[in-house]
Formats: sequence, structure tokens, C-alpha cells
Amino acid sequence: MTKPRPAIAVVGAGLAGLATACELTRRGFDVAVFEREAHPGGRARSEKVEGFTLEAVGPLVSDGDRRLLAWIDAVGLSDEMLPLRPVLTKLAVGEKLATVESDGLIDIARTPGIRPLQALRLIRLPRLIARYGDRLAYDAPERGASLDDRSLGDFGRLYFGSSVLSHWLAPRVTETSLGRADDLSRVLFLRRFRSHGSARSGLLRSGLGELSEKAASGLAVTYRAEIERIECGAAGRITFDVKGGTRSQSFSPDAVVVATSAPEAMRIAAPSLVTAERESLADVRYRPAISLAVGLRRPFHPHPQHIQLPHGEGSPLESVLLEPGVTGGRVPDGRGLALLRATGAFSAATFDAPEETLVKELLAAFARIHPGAESAVMFTKLHCVARALPGFDVGRYRAIASFERVQRELRGEGRRLYFAGDYLMDPSLEGAVASAHRVAAAVAEDLSSPA
Ligand SMILES: Cc1cc2nc3c(=O)[nH]c(=O)nc-3n(C[C@H](O)[C@H](O)[C@H](O)COP(=O)(O)OP(=O)(O)OC[C@H]3O[C@@H](n4cnc5c(N)ncnc54)[C@H](O)[C@@H]3O)c2cc1C
Repeated sequence: MTKPRPAIAVVGAGLAGLATACELTRRGFDVAVFEREAHPGGRARSEKVEGFTLEAVGPLVSDGDRRLLAWIDAVGLSDEMLPLRPVLTKLAVGEKLATVESDGLIDIARTPGIRPLQALRLIRLPRLIARYGDRLAYDAPERGASLDDRSLGDFGRLYFGSSVLSHWLAPRVTETSLGRADDLSRVLFLRRFRSHGSARSGLLRSGLGELSEKAASGLAVTYRAEIERIECGAAGRITFDVKGGTRSQSFSPDAVVVATSAPEAMRIAAPSLVTAERESLADVRYRPAISLAVGLRRPFHPHPQHIQLPHGEGSPLESVLLEPGVTGGRVPDGRGLALLRATGAFSAATFDAPEETLVKELLAAFARIHPGAESAVMFTKLHCVARALPGFDVGRYRAIASFERVQRELRGEGRRLYFAGDYLMDPSLEGAVASAHRVAAAVAEDLSSPA
């Protein structure tokens, strides 16, 4: 008789949960996914509006997002989503848009607004990265704890100067972390620079929703199944309560991976957590995000453009992504889509403002970059996400290090409860997928992978 395969329950069908489930299935486990909503994708969902694919996250990824791109390939979506559609990076300097070549440090040094003498100091960056070495390993964020002692703002000003900070260092990470350079840990920037270097950004050719739908279609996912409580009892027994519609069921899997946000993980796993874990999860602070998708009657440019706004110039916008339509793409041919992303400061300060006010302010800021933009607007769709991104401020990597230490101890004692999600790795799609790989490897090690 063949031995039954260990049963793993994954809570949450966001990218971290789906990638964990795919990886564990590939390794031969029997995996069941439980998702509270009626669809997969979590924060990285897409929706269709007037033939346009819209998402709060946006389709801009990088060649350096190796784990995400490999997963797209593994689920069989390379032909639909890849190769990335090249994007021109621009910097809004006053009323003008300057092209930024970001192939290497020489190109960065040519970025308008960066003072030449400060640009020269960028030569120190590769040396610093080499010196920090494995402390910046992408899959092991806890190793960054010893460097997690100063903010990106302090670090940038000290090593390179304020013009490099405001025109290059800060825009590189604040858009996808929504923090202020003076709060964010320098480790966030250093880790991303080490893993992504000067990799080029580009647009996914179809929506992220397609990725989660396709990944989920190959898995056993139960939707509208909200996990209410996970309890690890004696002899490693885990009970697991699911509320789905009016039904309530109890399961007893061999291991559970909680791939929700940190506050939700704390709520449902509370009976099984030790104090240090509870404190760690409670400490993760999420930032709100506001973005506005604008359907345009005409594409403004023949090629996609990613326009960044230098920090400290008072615009509510962090960036604008302009995507001209193509046949069979995310945006109908002959049309254009602008994704306006508000700064973290604007999002936090105006989150509760009336929708019309937000739309008006963001469109007015867009028109300052693109005079006449308002006349091309077909529709707008505002996304306000209260818990958009986990903060990676100074201290976050030290907190991850202590969380990981406790996880190792409890695994050693036989507890089979695991956590995955962007808040444990990096606040990004790539971070969610990387945390999934990590947790799947831990489960396979503890339960001896059947594959
Ligand atoms: C506005 C915005 C902009 C962003 N921009 C970028 C960007 O430009 N680049 C980038 O790389 N990343 C970006 N991100 C971040 C990226 O979307 C996230 O890092 C990633 O999607 C997180 O995935 P996750 O699986 O960790 O979490 P989630 O997507 O939050 O998934 C958690 C899942 O768990 C489910 N769940 C929760 N509680 C329960 C329960 N009790 N029972 C069952 N299921 C439950 C939820 O419904 C959800 O599906 C952005 C995010 C937002 C919101």
C-alpha cells in the first residue's frame, strides 16, 4: 500500500498562497487552498472595465523579478504575458519630461536634477553592495538585520547627496512601498538593488488576474471559505475551522500555511501563537494607497511610458504609467490607459476624502504633466486600498529576524504552522512569490517531501 501524501492547507489565494500551493503540489503534497473571497489574487486582482484590464497594483514589473517570471512560465502563461513590453522611463522636471536611461550608473548620473559631483559618488554603491554581500540575500531578509540601523534618507544623503536621494534613490523604492525615504529602512533599497541591479522594467502583456486564475485552476481551491481559527493541539494535531456560507467545518491537515495579511494571520492563528509571534505580527503596519486608472480615447505615445515625479516637489502623484493599446492586449487598440499613483503621503492624508475630490486632484496633477489630458478621458476608476502595502521602515528587518528565529524554534518542537506573504520578504509581487518558495521549502524539509 502506498503511504498517503501529507495534506497541507493553505489559507489565502493571494499570490503568496497560490505560489505556495503550486510549489507544494509540484513537490508531491496533497494541497487544499481556502480563500475568503469569491476569486483568487488577493491584492493583485484585475477587473475589466469597458474592455480595459484594470488593477490597483499595475502591470509594471522588472526582468529582475525572476521568481515571478519563472512562475508565469511554470503555469503556462509565457505566451500571453511575456516577454515584458518595454517601457520608457521619464522624469517630470518642472513642465518637461526627461528620458532616464537606467542601464547603469553612468546613465543614472545623467538624470536631470542629479548634481554631477553627487553623481560621481554613485561609484561607491556597487562597492557597498559587494561589501554587504550575503546580508542582502533576497530570500533571507533576516540577514539584513545588522544593516537595518538607518533610513534610506540618512543613508542616501550621507553617501551620495540629496539630489541623488530625491531624483533616483527614493523614487526607486517609494512607489512600491509608499513610505517616506526618512522612514524606510535602507535595507529595502539595498536588497532590491542587489537582486535587481539595473534590470529593465516592462509591462506584463495581460492582467495579473490571469496569472492567479490560471494558477488557481490547477489547484483545489475552495472560495468563500473564511478560516476562522487554527489551533495546534497535542501531538502536532492541527484543527482548522472554516466558515463557508452557512457551513462550518473542521479539518485536520498535517500542516497549515497562513498566507494572509499579518493582522489576519494574527487573528485566526491566535490560539497557537507564542507572545513573540503575536508581537511581531501586531507590529506590521500597512500603508494605504490611492491610485486612479484613467481610460483614454487615444494613446498619448506609441510606446509605454513610466513617468516618475521627483520627491519634494509637492505633486500628489508619485508616478504615471501610460500604456498605449495593442490588439489582444490589456488596453484596446487605439486607446490608452494612464495609471496615476498617488504618493504615500497624499494617500495617507486624503484617504477618507470624497471620491470626486480625489479624482479631480489627481487628474489636475496629470494635466500638469500632460496638458490637455482631461479632454481625452473616457472613464476613471479610483482604487483606495486601506491595507495596500506592509511598511518596511527602519527596524522591520530586525523584526523579521526575530520572527524567523521563533519560527525555527517552533518548527524544531514539531509545530507545523507556517506563514507566507509579502510582509515577511519584500512589499511586492516578487516578495510574495519569494516568501512562498521559502515556506514551501520549509514544509518539504519538515514533512519530508514525497516527490
Ligand atoms: C495599491 C497597490 C499597489 C501595489 N503596487 C505594487 C507594485 O507596483 N509592484 C509590486 O511588485 N507590488 C505592488 N503591490 C503589492 C502586491 O500587490 C502585494 O505585495 C502582493 O499581491 C501580496 O500578495 P500576498 O499573497 O502576500 O497577500 P494578499 O494579496 O493580501 O493575499 C491574501 C489573501 O488571503 C485571503 N484571506 C485573508 N483572510 C482570510 C481568511 N481568514 N480565510 C481565507 N482567506 C483569507 C485574502 O482574501 C487574500 O486573497 C501593490 C499593492 C497594492 C494594494
